Amino acid sequence: MTAAVSAPARPCPVAPGDLCDFRDLGGFPDLSGKVGPVSVVQCRRCGHGVSLPPLADVAFLYAGRATQDFRQDGSRLGHAIKNVAFRRQARALLAQLPARPARVLDFGCGSGQFTRCLDDELGPGMVTGSDFETSPPADLTGRSYVPAGALAPLAGSFDCVLAMHVLEHDDDAAGLLGRIAAMARPGGILVIEVPNSECAWLKVFGKAWDAWYLPYHRSHFSRRSLRALVEQGGHTVLALHPATVPTMGRSLSNLVGGNKGLTWLLAGIGLHPLQVAGERLTGRPSALRIIARVGG
Ligand SMILES: [Zn+2]
Repeated sequence: MTAAVSAPARPCPVAPGDLCDFRDLGGFPDLSGKVGPVSVVQCRRCGHGVSLPPLADVAFLYAGRATQDFRQDGSRLGHAIKNVAFRRQARALLAQLPARPARVLDFGCGSGQFTRCLDDELGPGMVTGSDFETSPPADLTGRSYVPAGALAPLAGSFDCVLAMHVLEHDDDAAGLLGRIAAMARPGGILVIEVPNSECAWLKVFGKAWDAWYLPYHRSHFSRRSLRALVEQGGHTVLALHPATVPTMGRSLSNLVGGNKGLTWLLAGIGLHPLQVAGERLTGRPSALRIIARVGG
């Protein structure tokens, strides 16, 4: 069933002066059980997707850190495997920055596991995690954590602000980007990573592809729409890198209606080389990472 809500009027970044030319991708499962019928429309020109119906405030979706965005692995093995992967990702991310940052904010830190790995890599105390909740997630116990509602006094004080898989969670991505960028010092660095709405695997998995993740994902970015958002925010794009999020395990699990436990994590790891190869061959990665210099 498709939500009976019409597509929003949105300036299309590849057709100046014109609006996005949306087509209806139809109904998706409501993974929250809190919204009802949900659907996605996607622009034929720029590839940008928008989830419907609109949600002015999404905080209710994340009450109590109950979603997979915050989930701690039940198993020690799962946690240990992710530690190895996140530590490697942290090193790769630092290598992409123009200079080694002294003070980093990880906005929307979720489970905090990547935040902690980055903090270990940079030298403990350099990275601050931040999210909706007043208390830090278990992985950031003893580390620097500031609730999103208490960030204002720290505005303009960070060398580098990360928003990894954050912007897609809000209907007003431009407004959220503005609040995130305000935390960086003038000339500081923004790192924005989002799922790619034009990923090669979408054709294989269809609506079971885990990055659709309705209704939590509100905006579905393409290369063009992500770049336009960052540039319209007044920031200078330094690089746009492909990124691979290990999504095969959860997507397979979605296909068969299974849970998202260790079995699927291991299946995803087994299939990861295939996922990476497919994305490289097609030039259509599962995620997009923009490194930008904060302007304006
Ligand atoms: Zn468009």
